[in-house]
Amino acid sequence: MAKTNSNQNETVQKLLAAIEYAADSIFITDKQGIIEYVNPAFEKLTGYSKDEAIGNTPKLLYSGEHDRKFYKKLWDAVLAGKVYRTLFINKKKNGTLYYEEETIAPVKNKQGKIRYFVSAGRDVTKRKKQEIQTEYFISMASHELKTPLTTIKAYTQLLQKKIDKKNNAQQHYYLSKINNKVDFLTRLINNLLDVSRIKSGKLEYDKKIYDFDWMIKELVEDLQRGIDSHQLILKGKTQKQVNVDKNRIGEVVTNLINNAIKYSPEANKIIINHNDTNGSVIVSVQDFGIGIPKSQQKKIFDLFYQIKDKENTNIVGLGIGLYLASEIINAHKGKLWIESEKNKGSIFYFSLPIKE
Ligand code: ADP
Repeated sequence: MAKTNSNQNETVQKLLAAIEYAADSIFITDKQGIIEYVNPAFEKLTGYSKDEAIGNTPKLLYSGEHDRKFYKKLWDAVLAGKVYRTLFINKKKNGTLYYEEETIAPVKNKQGKIRYFVSAGRDVTKRKKQEIQTEYFISMASHELKTPLTTIKAYTQLLQKKIDKKNNAQQHYYLSKINNKVDFLTRLINNLLDVSRIKSGKLEYDKKIYDFDWMIKELVEDLQRGIDSHQLILKGKTQKQVNVDKNRIGEVVTNLINNAIKYSPEANKIIINHNDTNGSVIVSVQDFGIGIPKSQQKKIFDLFYQIKDKENTNIVGLGIGLYLASEIINAHKGKLWIESEKNKGSIFYFSLPIKE
């Protein structure tokens, strides 16, 4: 018995030392949220000493940057016994705001009742500020680039109308090339803007009910008009309705088809199939191109990820199309996946829930 006690004591001593020397800021509250313990990292980060913090509640750190809903969500989760992770904007004793990634975990007694909450947090202000700056830059640069592009597009179209097509076939051909490249740049910039909207939680979805087969047919036909190198072959039918943001789903299909074309320069067709199963519609975009090795198939959905391939260095892109596609499909409660074999081609699939 005595041995067990001394073992337990030793364990407690070890854990206490770990908490005291931890780089993370740690505090413990009772069930009502009254602070009972803070570690030295907490004192260093917040500027509040042990004596100032103990007996207070975490309201001590409130910055006024979060609304009531934010705190309610937190309390609902931890009172239900769940571990909760979130990003706080907190305020130090000297008034400085800082970003803290915090994990709050309930500690229960033997009867399963919550007795304490343990909170462990890390100062991520530097990283957050860099992210905000990058997002701001992307957003500003994209807006600045959009305006001249719109003008170039308008004048190109004006010239296309003015120049007699019959006698100036070559000029028309040049203008259509300019037009295509302007469209490509506009898409790229819109994609960049969407990334910055996603990162700042501002990408909105305007969902409406559509006939799915009609939507896909229209999208594919529109795309085919600007593509000479490949034939887009549309197959299948669903006769189902979906509740989606048509423009955003259009972006997904456009990105998948453009990739299929880009990464199958030797081929001349892309097969787009659509059918339905178990409450979902499924679209597949199949190409007969360079394919994607198994080891890379998960990573290609990450932001800015591109496969380094010496044979295909002349292909342009930023590595954002698939990231955007997966964000958009997730926001519609669908799935995006891939089947591919190197040098044989790829099939990208996405599913969307059917509107009952
Ligand atoms: P981007 O095409 O602009 O580089 P994406 O996010 O659309 O960015 O794609 C990420 C990467 O996935 C690409 O760089 C490419 O290496 C690979 N990839 C995407 N689609 C295909 C495809 N159909 N066939 C082969 N590789 C592809």
